[in-house]
Amino acid sequence: MPQEHRSTPDPFDWIDEHAELRRRAGLVRSLRPRPADSPLLDLAGNDYLGLARHPEVVAAASAAARRWGAGATGSRLVTGTTELHAELEAELADFCGFEAALVFSSGYAANLAAVTALTDRGTLVVSDAANHASLIDGCRLSRAETAVVPHSDPGAVGKALDGFAGRAVAVTDSVFSVDGDAAPLAELAAVCRGHGAALLVDDAHGLGVLGDGGRGALHAAGLAGDPDVVATATLSKALGSQGGAVLGPARVIDHLVNTARTFVFDTGLAPAAAGAALAALRLLRAEPGRSARVREVATGLYERLAGAGLDATRPDAAVVSVRAPSPEAAVRWAADCRGAGLAAGCFRPPSVPDGISRLRLTARADLTEAELDAAAATVTRTAPPVRPDA
Ligand code: PMP
Repeated sequence: MPQEHRSTPDPFDWIDEHAELRRRAGLVRSLRPRPADSPLLDLAGNDYLGLARHPEVVAAASAAARRWGAGATGSRLVTGTTELHAELEAELADFCGFEAALVFSSGYAANLAAVTALTDRGTLVVSDAANHASLIDGCRLSRAETAVVPHSDPGAVGKALDGFAGRAVAVTDSVFSVDGDAAPLAELAAVCRGHGAALLVDDAHGLGVLGDGGRGALHAAGLAGDPDVVATATLSKALGSQGGAVLGPARVIDHLVNTARTFVFDTGLAPAAAGAALAALRLLRAEPGRSARVREVATGLYERLAGAGLDATRPDAAVVSVRAPSPEAAVRWAADCRGAGLAAGCFRPPSVPDGISRLRLTARADLTEAELDAAAATVTRTAPPVRPDA
């Protein structure tokens, strides 16, 4: 019904007020379809190993859809588990060095599952201040007492755990998605062990990038298979597919199968996504140089940007972010990059916990040195004149 003909209050008029506030703050977001054959050089996506379009990965997706159908047809406990799901879980656990794995329809759902299934109202959750939204939402859903601790500070985690006698879980990203910095996993694990707490690590940005041949940040830290550690991962970044996973002790995975609401009440991962992730995982195993190359590309990108005087973060994995003086400047910067042929991510509040807007660039194993030179030149040439420290 047209607004002017309403005889009752408009239940959505508050939405217009919110939209106006967003517009004034320069925080409006909009969707832009990505053309299939985009001419842009892509440093915005998370296809770290360049596998999303790999012929074997794409062929595995279509073969899976032909064999099992376009959708999983039901939840995993009913009709949604195929041989592909079982193989993917077994191979993922084996590759990353964990006893068992469980695949979800997204990394977001995997994180909600892991946090909520490991906690109850009486649990203390100690959560890093820069954790991903899906971990934060898991904490909220769990209704557990949550202590948010300063970023990457094992001492603060220890303090939060001191004197707490009940069940406790420390939760952290392995690589933080905004700045691309790595968490001090070995120190966090030692603190947790000392307090009898579990450690839950979201390795979304570590799988395929860190550790021996891309086995992940937990493997790199010597924590793969640790009986007190649970990891989550996404199939949608380095593995180029879609979906998520939880990895850990078999009894934890069993518990998730029986209790995790985002597993039990969600339709299973589409067979095409499971098939693609499995093919990508096998490629990763067969070609371990891919993970070393993406780290090399990230470092090369950082060195070019920092060398040009930009306020870039030194990458621990594949993400390099560059600070912008304001949300508006970040948006303009990304738009100018796009105009010059480069797709760059733009992170602004509320996606950034510290309120600092950034251009977010991601390395890909298949980027050439010439492409890196061109990307760095574009980012530098279009940089806003005022830097945060100016
Ligand atoms: N954790 C982290 C750290 C992420 O960056 C993301 C994706 N942005 C997710 C979890 C969610 O994964 P997915 O996209 O597979 O839902």
